[in-house]
Amino acid sequence: MITSHMNGYVQEASMQAKSHRERAVDCPGDESCLVKAPHCSAQMERIQHYQEELRKRREEESRGKHDIDPNASLRLKKLSQNPKVGIDNPTFDGKEKANKDACSPDPVGELDEMLQTLKWVQHCLTDAQSQQDVELIMQILAKEDFKNAYTIYNAVSQQMSRVNPTSPLTAQAQDLCLEVQNILQSSQQKEGLELRALLTNPHLQALMQVHDSVAGQEVEEENVTQYLGETVKLVRLEKTRDTPLGATVRNDMDSVVVSRVVKGGAAERSGLLSEGDEILEINGISIRGKHINEVHDLLQQMQGTLTFLLIPSSQIKPAAHRQTVMHVRAYFDYDPSDDPFVPCRELGLSFQKGDILHVISQDDSNWWQAYRDGDEDNQPLAGLVPGKSFQQQRETLKKTITDKSREQQVKVWYGKKNKKQRKKSISTFSKSSDYDDILTYEEMSLYHQPATRKRPVALIGPTNSGHDELRRRLLSIEPEKFAVAVPHTTRGPRIHERNGRDYHFVSRAAFETDLAAGKFIESGEYEKNLYGSSTDSVRHIINSGRICLLCLHTRSLRVLRSSNLKPYVIFIAPPSQERLRTLLATEGKTPKPEELKEVIEKAREMEHGFGHFFDATIVNLDPDQAFHELRRLIDKLDTEPQWVPTSWLC
Ligand code: 5GP
Repeated sequence: MITSHMNGYVQEASMQAKSHRERAVDCPGDESCLVKAPHCSAQMERIQHYQEELRKRREEESRGKHDIDPNASLRLKKLSQNPKVGIDNPTFDGKEKANKDACSPDPVGELDEMLQTLKWVQHCLTDAQSQQDVELIMQILAKEDFKNAYTIYNAVSQQMSRVNPTSPLTAQAQDLCLEVQNILQSSQQKEGLELRALLTNPHLQALMQVHDSVAGQEVEEENVTQYLGETVKLVRLEKTRDTPLGATVRNDMDSVVVSRVVKGGAAERSGLLSEGDEILEINGISIRGKHINEVHDLLQQMQGTLTFLLIPSSQIKPAAHRQTVMHVRAYFDYDPSDDPFVPCRELGLSFQKGDILHVISQDDSNWWQAYRDGDEDNQPLAGLVPGKSFQQQRETLKKTITDKSREQQVKVWYGKKNKKQRKKSISTFSKSSDYDDILTYEEMSLYHQPATRKRPVALIGPTNSGHDELRRRLLSIEPEKFAVAVPHTTRGPRIHERNGRDYHFVSRAAFETDLAAGKFIESGEYEKNLYGSSTDSVRHIINSGRICLLCLHTRSLRVLRSSNLKPYVIFIAPPSQERLRTLLATEGKTPKPEELKEVIEKAREMEHGFGHFFDATIVNLDPDQAFHELRRLIDKLDTEPQWVPTSWLC
């Protein structure tokens, strides 16, 4: 089922590899990875042909019609010169306003109607208490004070609904002020003098200046009755170098349609350009019939005020709601230039495993809009990243393909063996491919450790990377601040050893029961005795107010992360082979070259497999430097909040 679904994706992908469905218009991006216009493609030819046909048809149609303006731009120009039209009176012909007035509510009549309804409700009710309650409401509604208050409320809310603070009436308030001042110059009337004094007040002039600069960036949207038989709207947007438009367009037959409005751009901020709107004109230039790449090129050359003539999307816009930002840690690398599925490559956001992303829109569940942590201040537009379930599907498909090819190999390998052996090998294999394990994103939250409950610090690294030495140094310098968890063992105590101080001495049966119950972060066997560090021992140190230091193998990370101990994981990476040899020599160690190579190879494997679980990495070039860096990171836990999985805080 999943496979056939994904096969569809694969086919689509191969199509998209040739030409992406969407084209960013005025979104800063890597021009090198833009999909160039397939000028001689069948699509282009089809569009041009369609455009020609349409033009002929329209010409014929417009010849016989006088109510359709063949040059709507002139009217639009007029409209934009007279922004007052459509604000007091939202439609040109005023019909809508008349209708509105005709059906404007009569508050007293409404209350009477309500009283009648309540009477009827009271009549239908059978229990005395409910009847009494309704009676009480009726008494309130019948009161003169209430009627007055309701009438005032209605009048105010009607007034308010006419005022749309998001649509400035003009962006030339300063000019208007000057004009009025000129007119008033010859006035000797008291009111005229007073108004002139007001308008020449520097504070008011500064206010007008600010108003105009804000209004200039805002948009004026006015409804135009008919344009080639369609209801259209006019939208003005201010495009600057700092505020790109931030939208993508797609071709729908010969139409150019807004496909995506990107967070952070002028289109999104204005709230007036919507997904699904068809662009008819931009600054008087006809857009229908153009290929999206032409629209891109056109918009790239335009600056300042852009006037869009649009056919609004017929889709009902969902109620505007504040999107909550979701913070996630990515568990895969992503490169949009290598992704045939991304609907608009220029808008793709590349990231690496372990990066924190701020997801600001999940409107399209397949393609989220996000910023990389730290980028949000210098990156005006959000970027597209694959949505969680979409990515999970892709990873599942990848895994299925890999597993299938491995299965084939196993079949070939066991080809000469009997059926039973073959079955066994395959079933063992499929058990290992657990799709539930596919990690794409994990939701993260900021966590600031309380002064009394310090996060345990886990140092991870291959043997000889120096993590053990760093832990020893911290313990010896500040024993009152740092501690290690007392381990459990099944061996008997030695003469000088005390239970609970050196080890928790337990029976093998008790150890194994605890191990099965998942109480150990890590465990091992040495000379037929079991050893291990329990979560309870670590918790004991946390409760004492000290920082628990752990030196762990990467395989312990999963258990540690699910332990609710909120560990801070630092990877201690070895330096180059030569530098490592020198460092180990100072400790009197003389490892063979292959041993040095092995340390570096092991570190590489650890980073590859578990790097996304590391909160920080220290390359141990020099023991003193590494120690200071470690202290700095640990101190930072007190002063700055850190990203942790949200599930840790539930
Ligand atoms: P001993 O019995 O001499 O104290 O320790 C024997 C070995 O057990 C040492 O190599 C020591 O590193 C290891 N060991 C001690 N505590 C732990 C522990 O908590 N976990 C694991 N895996 N090994 C431990």
